Amino acid sequence: MTPPTTSRRRFLKSAAAMGASAALLARPALAQAAPRVVVVGGGFAGVSAARALKMLDPRVAVTLVETSRTFTACPFSNGVVAGLRELSAQQFTYDKVAADGVVLAFATAEAVDPQARTVSLSDGQRLSYDRLVLAPGIDIRWDGLPGYNEAAAARMPHAWKAGEQTLLLRRQLESMEDGGLVVISSPANPFRCPPGPYERASLIAYYLKTKKPRSKLIILDAKDAFSKQRLFQNAWKELYPGLLEWVSLSNGGKVTSVDPATNTLVTDFARHEAKVANVIPPQKAGRIVELAGVTDRSGWCPIDPVTFESKLHPNIHVLGDATIAGAMPKSAFTANAQAKVCAAALARLLRGEAPAEPELINTCYSLVAPDYGIHVAGVYHPVNGVLTEIEGSGGVGPVDAPRETRAQEATFANGWFATLTSEAFG
Ligand SMILES: Cc1cc2nc3c(=O)[nH]c(=O)nc-3n(C[C@H](O)[C@H](O)[C@H](O)COP(=O)(O)OP(=O)(O)OC[C@H]3O[C@@H](n4cnc5c(N)ncnc54)[C@H](O)[C@@H]3O)c2cc1C
Repeated sequence: MTPPTTSRRRFLKSAAAMGASAALLARPALAQAAPRVVVVGGGFAGVSAARALKMLDPRVAVTLVETSRTFTACPFSNGVVAGLRELSAQQFTYDKVAADGVVLAFATAEAVDPQARTVSLSDGQRLSYDRLVLAPGIDIRWDGLPGYNEAAAARMPHAWKAGEQTLLLRRQLESMEDGGLVVISSPANPFRCPPGPYERASLIAYYLKTKKPRSKLIILDAKDAFSKQRLFQNAWKELYPGLLEWVSLSNGGKVTSVDPATNTLVTDFARHEAKVANVIPPQKAGRIVELAGVTDRSGWCPIDPVTFESKLHPNIHVLGDATIAGAMPKSAFTANAQAKVCAAALARLLRGEAPAEPELINTCYSLVAPDYGIHVAGVYHPVNGVLTEIEGSGGVGPVDAPRETRAQEATFANGWFATLTSEAFG
């Protein structure tokens, strides 16, 4: 038997660490006609799936379809908003992905024909597949919040897809005078990155405290509870008293419409005219999954939790934020873990073997200040067709930890980002 290459060894090690069952890690198949797998979406899910599959079975012809030649990561982009890091630190190329033998098609997938098993691209190509993996992330529900459309986003940025929107929000904060009101609206579940709005609020509060201390920040929320809530709220009391206010759903926090002409967010009880308005709107799975017919009425994709195959169309697998993944949150770490499990299942399915039951891990850090980190973690497995958290497997960091622990967690958070992005793109 050929010994594993360094990169394959690295994958096997990290797949185990991510929770992919050892039984799923199949060996490359013997020579047969090369199966074709097309992956749409070169984010955390798509890239990880393409590379893992190629490593597990180099015989498989893997093509990755991605609109942009540069990937801009959302994790840590709240630091860019708050002026703590530059957007360039979020950006990655696909050079290493290509070096692994994945064929890159820089174009947008515009249509899927599940019967003919083809994907049509914006550059006129039509790719045939034996198995298709769709990992397009999210799209904004432009009809989800009255008054909020693409033109409004140029005035009231969402910054929920990293890039120009992230920089726009940062510039607005930089040009705001001291004493201004910043308002963030946070949507109802489900949405990309459950702790993301609260990490953003924390880092904007840090910016205001250090640069514009007479200013105020309000979070208007369509929920009564949120991820790592106690940890965030304790930290806010300690770090940002009088500066940051959270208004829950029960206290009238749900934004029912916006008026971009006056930068106003409207709730059932009040109108908030903001100097800077960050509207995080309702979301749905990226458009291509809708076009492929693998979304249900929720706008997200029901999947089999062992193979991530769509419950609506055979031979189409969906990964990452686009999925309905039971208890697993929509996070980059989740996307990466799902990708490895799916790749291992695909390697087996393409050989006519049955996939094994997986276990998947999620770990997510948030920064409340540059030297103050908190985390949540969980381990998940399929129960009656639904990804369910294994009891006692995870939870949040300690509520009463000393500041040294928070500082250490901030260091871990930086390590988390470096590891995840180097595994996907490095
Ligand atoms: C502010 C913020 C902070 C966050 N912080 C964290 C964090 O700390 N930890 C964490 O784990 N997660 C975090 N997340 C969540 C994380 O970014 C997402 O969960 C993750 O990116 C999902 O990966 P994905 O591959 O499903 O989608 P994405 O990473 O969005 O990738 C989708 C890719 O598909 C491409 N694409 C879409 N449609 C097509 C098409 N038709 N044709 C070709 N290409 C297409 C897009 O260009 C994109 O590159 C954060 C998110 C935000 C917004």
